[in-house]
Amino acid sequence: MTDFVRKESGLREEDAVYDALIPAGDGWMYDLEPGQVLRIVDLEGNQAVDTLFYDADNPADHYSAVQTIAAQESIYLTTGSVLLAESGKPLVTIVADTCGRHDTLGGACSAQSNTVRYAHEKYYMHNCRDTFMRLLAQRDGYAKRDLAPNVNFFMNVPVTSEGGLTFAAGVSAPGCYVEMRAETRVTVLISNCPQLNNPCNAYNPTPIRLLIWSP
Ligand SMILES: [Zn+2]
Repeated sequence: MTDFVRKESGLREEDAVYDALIPAGDGWMYDLEPGQVLRIVDLEGNQAVDTLFYDADNPADHYSAVQTIAAQESIYLTTGSVLLAESGKPLVTIVADTCGRHDTLGGACSAQSNTVRYAHEKYYMHNCRDTFMRLLAQRDGYAKRDLAPNVNFFMNVPVTSEGGLTFAAGVSAPGCYVEMRAETRVTVLISNCPQLNNPCNAYNPTPIRLLIWSP
């Protein structure tokens, strides 16, 4: 894992225009202006942060894993990755990353996936899909159809040489962060994953910190 490229940010915390703590299992929805930089800090380490991006002026044009993976010819995200919308429009660019690798394939946990993967009794457990739905329902112009395949920041889903997906123990650590610059007006939707049944949160969901800088 030491071959990851990790890039630190030059931004200073005291210059941030926004600073918030998102408790374990909670969510966040926010509009970034072009040029603003969002930092997500994995405060305690190995916390999956399920995230979606939308063109704020045209929410139907949301983040596309397929467009992003095909354009950068890699399934992982790190510094330099440009996250594209379905239309091919750049939404955000990752400009710093001290974790080194983020997942594009694992998707969000849901009541249904908890049932299929673990046990029927897990159906009622809190999950990312419920958090996404709750936040989308509070916004005009967004609906169930806007729930698209998401990014999992700080989550480690290595692909085997046979093409298999593995939900593995995390590669992040306390204080690791990823930073992204908005390339247009972007709506960011986060579920700070409450999952307790696989190692994506080290079986212990923890808070994250969000910081924003203006250009
Ligand atoms: Zn989740």
